[in-house]
Amino acid sequence: MDSLRNLLQQAQTKGVAIGHFNISDLVLLKAVFTSAQDLHVPVLVGLSEGEREFMGTREAAALVRTLREEFDYPIFLNADHTHSLAKAVEAAKAGFDSIVFDLSALPFEENIRQTKQGVEALKSINPAILVEGEIGDIGTGSEIHDKAPDIEKGLSTPEEAKQFVQATGVDILAPAVGNMHGMLMSMVSGETKKHLHIDRIAAIKQAAGTFLTLHGGSGTDDEDLRKALAAGINIVHINTELRVAWREGVEKGLAKDPNEVSPYKILPFAVTSVKQVVTARLKLFNEQRHLAKGV
Ligand SMILES: [Zn+2]
Repeated sequence: MDSLRNLLQQAQTKGVAIGHFNISDLVLLKAVFTSAQDLHVPVLVGLSEGEREFMGTREAAALVRTLREEFDYPIFLNADHTHSLAKAVEAAKAGFDSIVFDLSALPFEENIRQTKQGVEALKSINPAILVEGEIGDIGTGSEIHDKAPDIEKGLSTPEEAKQFVQATGVDILAPAVGNMHGMLMSMVSGETKKHLHIDRIAAIKQAAGTFLTLHGGSGTDDEDLRKALAAGINIVHINTELRVAWREGVEKGLAKDPNEVSPYKILPFAVTSVKQVVTARLKLFNEQRHLAKGV
């Protein structure tokens, strides 16, 4: 089976992106895996520190590894937003394929210094592991926010991107390009959409010359996502949209029969609901494009 690095390279050549979806239970994992399987596309499953805390770092790794082996399927596991080296090492030792080592809250020079150390430490555990670094500010929390953070102030520059990638040796860079974590209520209802700085993505891609991840993809305008892929985004993270669908599905399952207590009869409603979101996003990310540039 192709490695995650090879699949990213192929996605780059084709001008498509690998969808990254966060999970914290079996409903989400089932929805993500079966959506990808139906469309025959590779997929990345991610767990933040909080999601790993709930599901178990080694337990999540065992589940994803089992799916990969049983179905001979390109499903990969990412340790999303990991803020300490100890947690990153724990995920690397558990067999995660990639780690988002997120020190973007630190001053830029300190972010570079500690990310470089992280890359060296993680590659010494698993030379094939992919390490992602973050620069700029895109807010925190894949939740529904009352108001948007001022993300325009924290946009990444091509100069910073180039310096960061060269100095740290990260395989993947997550820039701030108009994206933000979480959604506003107006985005959940579909009245408003997130918009991206496409020219900035293209300039960062050219300067950094590495794989790029778009975090906080939930609620982003479809056309902006297409343009972002063409400009060099290789991975798109979707979390909040899944959480919203999860809740709607659970509520639907509970409402159907107030006397029903079997989880395996209630939770399929949530699987169906999450699957609709994942399938729509994967279709968008995997439309064929012809504008890709080599890394
Ligand atoms: Zn993120």
